[in-house]
Amino acid sequence: EKFVYSFNEGSKEMRELLGGKGANLAEMTQIGLPVPFGFTVTTEACNQYYQEECQIAEDVIEQIFEKLSELENVTDKVFGDKERPLLVSVRSGSVFSMPGMMDTILNLGLNDDIVEGLAVLTENPRFAYDSYRRFIQMFGNIVLEIPKTKFEALLEKKKQEKSYGDDLSLTTEDIQELIKDYKVLIQQEMGRELTQDPKEQLMEAIMAVFRSWNNERAVLYRQLNNISSSLGTAVNVQSMVFGNMGEHSGTGVAFTRNPIDGTSEIFGEFLMNAQGEDVVSGLRTPLPIDGMAEFFPEVYKEFLRISKLLEEHFTDMQNIEFTVEKNKLFLLQSRNAKRTAEAAVRIAVDMEQEELIDKRTAVTRLEPEQISQLLHPRFEKADLKRAEKLGIGLPASPGAVTGRICFSAKEAEAAALNGEKVILTRMETSPEDLAGMVAAEGILTARGGMTSHAAVVARSMGRCCIVGCGDMTVNQQQKTLTIGNVVLTDADFISLDGISGMVYKGDVKTVTPELSGNFGTIMKWADEIRTLKVRANADNGQEAKAAVQFGAEGIGLCRTEQMFRKENRILLIRQLLLTENEDKIRESLLQLLPFQKKEFKAIYEAMQDRPVTIRLLDLSFHEFLPSSQEEIIRLAEQLHVSLDQLNRRIDELRELNPMLGYRGCRLAVTYPDIAAMQTEAIILAAIEMKREKNLDIAPEIIIPMVAMRSEFAFIKKIVVETIDSCFKKENMTLNYSVGTMIEVPRAALVADELAREAEFFSFGTNDLTQMTFGLSREDSLPMIREYQGKRILDSNPFETIDKKGVGKLIQMAAEAGKSTRPNLKMGICGDQSGDPQTVAFCHNLGLNYVSCAPYKVPVARLAAAQAAI
Ligand code: ADP
Ligand code: MG
Ligand code: MG
Repeated sequence: EKFVYSFNEGSKEMRELLGGKGANLAEMTQIGLPVPFGFTVTTEACNQYYQEECQIAEDVIEQIFEKLSELENVTDKVFGDKERPLLVSVRSGSVFSMPGMMDTILNLGLNDDIVEGLAVLTENPRFAYDSYRRFIQMFGNIVLEIPKTKFEALLEKKKQEKSYGDDLSLTTEDIQELIKDYKVLIQQEMGRELTQDPKEQLMEAIMAVFRSWNNERAVLYRQLNNISSSLGTAVNVQSMVFGNMGEHSGTGVAFTRNPIDGTSEIFGEFLMNAQGEDVVSGLRTPLPIDGMAEFFPEVYKEFLRISKLLEEHFTDMQNIEFTVEKNKLFLLQSRNAKRTAEAAVRIAVDMEQEELIDKRTAVTRLEPEQISQLLHPRFEKADLKRAEKLGIGLPASPGAVTGRICFSAKEAEAAALNGEKVILTRMETSPEDLAGMVAAEGILTARGGMTSHAAVVARSMGRCCIVGCGDMTVNQQQKTLTIGNVVLTDADFISLDGISGMVYKGDVKTVTPELSGNFGTIMKWADEIRTLKVRANADNGQEAKAAVQFGAEGIGLCRTEQMFRKENRILLIRQLLLTENEDKIRESLLQLLPFQKKEFKAIYEAMQDRPVTIRLLDLSFHEFLPSSQEEIIRLAEQLHVSLDQLNRRIDELRELNPMLGYRGCRLAVTYPDIAAMQTEAIILAAIEMKREKNLDIAPEIIIPMVAMRSEFAFIKKIVVETIDSCFKKENMTLNYSVGTMIEVPRAALVADELAREAEFFSFGTNDLTQMTFGLSREDSLPMIREYQGKRILDSNPFETIDKKGVGKLIQMAAEAGKSTRPNLKMGICGDQSGDPQTVAFCHNLGLNYVSCAPYKVPVARLAAAQAAI
């Protein structure tokens, strides 16, 4: 088996075997660019090394030395020879780029003897000893695992002794002394001397690079970026070129376009008389790349030509590492560059216009997750640096907002009416806070997780929100907010960064993103490509409008209980639930009807001819029960019932497991009048829109928490009878349909039966995940994080659909449903539906649509297009 490839044997298609760096070095060699020659030891050799308990097999070693002698022939130098020494770099390189995560050793092939030869050969002793010093430091650090800081301390000491400002002032003698110091350090740390045998150095270095695949930062980087640990790294052994040969040499890093805003201009840095890591190490301040024009006009021209060529060849923006040795340019690396969302959008559109890529490719160039950054205002970077950090919580809903601290929903509402910008700060939020949440710019809570009430509501409204800010306490009475050891009052301003979860003191300037222009162009292309429809979850007219602006093609879920959360209606719903007086109940319903109708009309108007799915009431009682004794006393007065009576009723209604309790359609079974009232409001609103605006609305009514066909049939009957009587009364008919949520596992299991009654399915993946895993969606985040940390769970199933379990249920239910009703319409509406992997899953399953929070709609549109490519 072949484990080692020369650069002229590989190509960019061989990433998996050669790693990204090796594959691209080979590709550049093949197209005739000036790349120092070398060879690549494959990722398979790395995996074999791990399988064989960190030993390199004999045949691999043999192949390495075969390629080494080929390299000697090509370079006309000899490895380990004093007269014409061949020096090499030993460089890591995995399949997915992990910049700076693994290790690289330069100038390998030197020892006490050879360095003298190099000094004579190059007539540059300073250069020779500087290279040797660098080699010892890197070998000591990476192979012998002596902390880098110990070498740096010796270097620092030397510079101080001599009062030098930078490394360049070190003389040859200084460097020779340093080499002695380094060797003493190695002797002390290892109890043995630095090896003088270059072949042994080479094999040790290769194994150290293999080992670096599992160093701490590489492991963490892979975890954060979902890169599999079984891929392994390749090792590139490459003949050295020297940027540290004096005035006509140097080294640099460049991007073919601006990686921050995407402008088509070369971007990068350059250091004269330097090697490798010097540019990024910060020890010396590099020059901007165009500064090269002055010192190396010819080389710079050549560099510009090649960077353009590389971009055209790889058809993407490149990140290039290069070195100039005595006025000659060498390329050491080229890879597709990392970039901001803003840059990604601009570059994709520009490249399509330059005819470098087509529209389909352009659409694949954006990361769906990343573009959500474009949809919210962001803090201005410079101003953010200046701001004082107070603390950090969970980034529950993105955005960047500044406002005055408010301690109650009432204050927030009042302040907002006066045109003030406020941040609502609470220990946690409750349904009564909704109006305050709407009024506030942002919400900050001490308690709660990513699916807490505040988080869910804030996301659906697109409000910036940080929850679970651990070191924070809110004192409602005294109106103080304590974070760490800072105490703030409602006279103070704070700023929230909903992307990072960071809380800042005072105000920070923001910049508004540009949604039209290039972004609009890419989204148009995405819409032409995708087949999966994208709807939004929206509970009122305002959210529906936002959804349309973000490109939603309908509403996949309108949650009617949200309409009851508004202050004056909470009382009505409480009256309905807490008094057993039939008249009172009827009275409440009569009063609630016009509210609902008005909200529905606003939604229909915003959506025009787009489909709207409205869910009948799915509240859990406990959300509406008063919590403090004070509140109960006040409520008893408001409802005109005795305190005893009220307390008894509350006790009756309290549940130990509200999430598995009196919710959804179970409520409608007990209170059919509620379902009837809501249906009436849905239909009357549609009829009025027809009369007033000539809009043809075909409401899709959906019944939540269904587990059984008989249960669904019971409620559907009420719905249909109500609709019939509306039609008769109004002397008009409309198209409509009645469907079911699939969110209780049993419903998925009997989907074929349900489809006999239900005209469409909507998979409620929040509850379906909660009930399939038996894992609370409200407060299990710390546990999920722990599971992820221990690699028991790959991802949070409330963020990305669990394909194996929950996904299987969805697939089964979809197939069973279609077997009874071939044209059954199906979509999903959980919080996962804005997640790109979930979108791809739904596309592959052949669902009709996903429905997500309005601001996630563009993410889903893009992800759906990518899934179709
Ligand atoms: P990383 O993956 O951390 O960027 P690299 O393997 O790319 O590590 O090496 C870092 C730097 O070392 C390169 O950018 C280059 O400046 C220098 N380098 C690597 N190999 C050589 C070589 N053969 N000749 C000269 N410099 C080299
Ligand atoms: Mg590199
Ligand atoms: Mg649900």
